[in-house]
Amino acid sequence: MSRNLSLYNSLTREKEAFVPLAEGRIGMYVCGPTVYNDVHLGNCRTFASFDIIYRYLMYAGYKVRYVRNITDVGHLLEDGEDRMSKGARIDQLEPMEVAQKYTNGFHNMMQVFNLLPPSIEPRATGHIIEQIKMVQEILDRGYAYVKNGSVYFDTPAFIRDGNPYGKLSGRVVEELLTESRDNLKNQDEKNHPSDFALWIRATDEHIMRWDSPWSIGFPGWHLECSAMSTKYLGETFDIHGGGNDLKFPHHENEIAQNMGSCGHAPARYWLHTNMLLLNGKKMSKSDGNTISPQQLFSGDSPHITKAYTPMVVKFFMLQAHYRSPLDITDDALQAAEKGYKRLMEALRIAQEFKPELPGSGSRDAQIRGLIADSLANMDDDFNVPNALSNVFELSSIVNSLRDGHIKTSEIGAGCWEEMCSHMLGLVGDVFGLKDEGRQSDSSLVDGLMELIIDLRRDIREKKDWAASDRLRDSLLELGIQLKDGKEGTQWKRS
Ligand code: AMP
Ligand code: ZN
Repeated sequence: MSRNLSLYNSLTREKEAFVPLAEGRIGMYVCGPTVYNDVHLGNCRTFASFDIIYRYLMYAGYKVRYVRNITDVGHLLEDGEDRMSKGARIDQLEPMEVAQKYTNGFHNMMQVFNLLPPSIEPRATGHIIEQIKMVQEILDRGYAYVKNGSVYFDTPAFIRDGNPYGKLSGRVVEELLTESRDNLKNQDEKNHPSDFALWIRATDEHIMRWDSPWSIGFPGWHLECSAMSTKYLGETFDIHGGGNDLKFPHHENEIAQNMGSCGHAPARYWLHTNMLLLNGKKMSKSDGNTISPQQLFSGDSPHITKAYTPMVVKFFMLQAHYRSPLDITDDALQAAEKGYKRLMEALRIAQEFKPELPGSGSRDAQIRGLIADSLANMDDDFNVPNALSNVFELSSIVNSLRDGHIKTSEIGAGCWEEMCSHMLGLVGDVFGLKDEGRQSDSSLVDGLMELIIDLRRDIREKKDWAASDRLRDSLLELGIQLKDGKEGTQWKRS
C-alpha cells in the first residue's frame, strides 16, 4: 500500500491530493543541467530537492521511473550562441568533449552530495530523431510554420484554438509579447514575438548541426524535454519538476509543444523548487555573488570563514522547504554543522545502544505520535524541515534515555526498535544523509591511534618496557612514528 500524498501543483497554484495515473507507479521528469560549465550550488539545491522527493516516493511505496535529462545542445545564450559551442570555444574542445567533461563533473557532484542517479538520463543530442518527429507533428496539426529553414511554434494559432498558453507561468498574452525574447539571432523571422523556435537553421559557424526536412540545423532548447519525456514516460505522466526559473518560457513552451503535437498536456503535477540565495541576493556569476561547492568544501571563499563538508551543506539545504528561497550564509552553515553533528550522534546511539526495556512504556504513545507526524509532514508536499524537527524531538528522547534522564521503564522495547529504525530510515534513506564521522578512514585511524597511545601509556606505567618497545617498533613498520613529549605522546606518518 502506498501512502497518500498531497502536492503543491504550480499549474493550479493549489495543494492537491496526489493520484498517480497508474496505481502504485509514478513517472517523474526533472529538467537536468546544461553541461557547458561546472554545476553550481543553486543547481545542486534543485537536484537535492528532487532527490528527496524521488527517495520519499519510493519510501512511500511507489515504483518510480525518474527521468532527468542532460542538455547538450540548443540552450542559447543572450547573443544567440549555443552554450555548448561557447564552452567548446573557451576550452578548445569538441562540443561532445565539453558535454562529457561537465557531465562527469555533474555526476561526481551528485555523488558527493549522495544523490541517487535517475532511472533514465537521456541526452538531447541522442534524441534528434524524436525531436524532428515532434516538430513534424506540430506542423501537421497547424501549430507551427517554416521560415528560411527554421521552424517556429505558432502561439496565436495555438491560443486561438482555446489552448492555455501562459497558464503555468500566470502570464497574460500581452506580457508574453514583451517577455518572449528567446535569444535567437533571427527574431524578425517570427510572425509573432511570442512564437518560439522548434528547429533552428544553423549558420555557417554553428558547429552542432543535424540534417532535417527543413534545414541543416539544431533543435530548440524546449523541444528536447517534450520529446524525451514523451519517449520515456508517455504522452501524459505524473510529475514534472525543475527550478522555478524554468516556469517561463521553458515549461510553458514544453506544455505548448506537447499539446500542439498530440493534444495532451504532458504532466499532471508541476513541482518547482525555489532559488538558492547568497547573503540575501540571488546567486549570480556575473555579480561575483556566487560560491561553488568546491569552495565550500575547501573554505576558500570570502563568503565563509571555514570549510564545510558535503553532508553539512546538504543538511543546511534540508532546513528550508523546497518551495521557499534559501539564503546561504556563514552563520547558517555553522548552525547546520552543529545540527548535523547532533543528529549523527543520536543516530549512532540509535544504532548501538541496546538498553534492557519493558514490553511497553509511558512514552510509547508520544514516540509513535512523533513518528506519525514526521511521515505526515513528508506526505504534506514533502515538508522536510518539519519532518526534520520531529526527528530532532526523537533524537532528544534517544539521548535522554542513554544519559539516564529518561528511565528505561518509560519506553517499551518494541517502541524503541520502531523509533530507532524510523530515524535511521528517514535520515539515511530519504534525506540521504551519510555519517561522515563514521565513514572517513582518517577519523577511524585517529580514533585507533588514540586508543593505542592510551594502551601504551598503561603498559609503560606498569614498566613493561619490552611490550612498549614492541608496540613502537610494530607501528614504525606500519609507517607510524610515536613521539613522547611534555604534552603526552603524539604520532605522525613517517
Ligand atoms: P541549468 O543547468 O541552468 O539548466 O539549471 C539546472 C537546474 O538548476 C534547473 O532546474 C534550474 O532551475 C536550477 N537552478 C538554477 N539556478 C538555481 C538557483 N540559484 N537555485 C536553485 N536552483 C537553480
Ligand atoms: Zn526541460
